[in-house]
Amino acid sequence: REMKPQPPLELTDIFIAVKTTGRFHKTRLALLLETWISKTKDHTYIFTDSPDEDVSSEGFNIVVTDCPPEHSHQALSCKMAAEYDHFMASDKKWLCHVDDDNYLNPGALLSLLEAFPVDSDIYVGKPSLDRPMRAQEMLEGNKTRDVHFWFATGGAGFCLSRKLAEKMAPWASGPRFEQTSAVIMLPDDCTVGFIVERRLGISMVHSNMFHSHLENLLLLVPSDIPKQVRFFSGGCYILLNFDKIHCLLYPTTSWCPVALKS
Ligand code: UDP
Ligand code: MN
Repeated sequence: REMKPQPPLELTDIFIAVKTTGRFHKTRLALLLETWISKTKDHTYIFTDSPDEDVSSEGFNIVVTDCPPEHSHQALSCKMAAEYDHFMASDKKWLCHVDDDNYLNPGALLSLLEAFPVDSDIYVGKPSLDRPMRAQEMLEGNKTRDVHFWFATGGAGFCLSRKLAEKMAPWASGPRFEQTSAVIMLPDDCTVGFIVERRLGISMVHSNMFHSHLENLLLLVPSDIPKQVRFFSGGCYILLNFDKIHCLLYPTTSWCPVALKS
């Protein structure tokens, strides 16, 4: 029997969810819109907590959630729930989450994801610790039990295949994501790991193609930059690094220095 040929994965098959908050629209989001989101505009969705006419009038997909503008577990899980529900309602094949202080390299992301078998259960990202997370799962009758699981640090970005996302629905759809987050009393990224590894028994794929702000961007040699999926640029040299990376990847961008264009 012939296998049905699958069309190759395209960048536009990836639902890119960016988590932000009103007070970071001007300081962080604006920079992303100028750089990598300009390359992925149609399939990038910005999840925030306050409307922004400047952003929506430019045609970017902005999703204004009812989530509180706070850094609490509950507020962050509320945004992750919105990302999940919007992805499920879309026709995209992958959900990739990034924070608003991430530089995403779309070409590298596509190369990473297209290497996975079609229709497989994939949760890929960078583990935030060098060992599994330990948590207390709340059980009925005020009991708890120890649980161990790997999770991908949200600050480095992670992706879920549609097949796996569908299986997560009993713990992730609608109000359930926040409820699951409350069961382990941990934030959004840990909750994703808990659902995948403990509720579904599926192991996270550990990737060294995602980077978090715990690492020093300066350790990356320029020739490696085109291969990396996502960068963090913490501190006040953020803007400089973002521009440099973007101009390395897209040297013909109008505002890139001429010297880089050759
Ligand atoms: N964030 C949010 N609401 C807040 C504060 C932060 O949605 O009140 C988002 C922020 O836009 C970012 C992520 O949460 O995408 C992580 O925030 P940040 O980078 O400031 O902190 P970190 O957890 O990385 O130290
Ligand atoms: Mn951060």
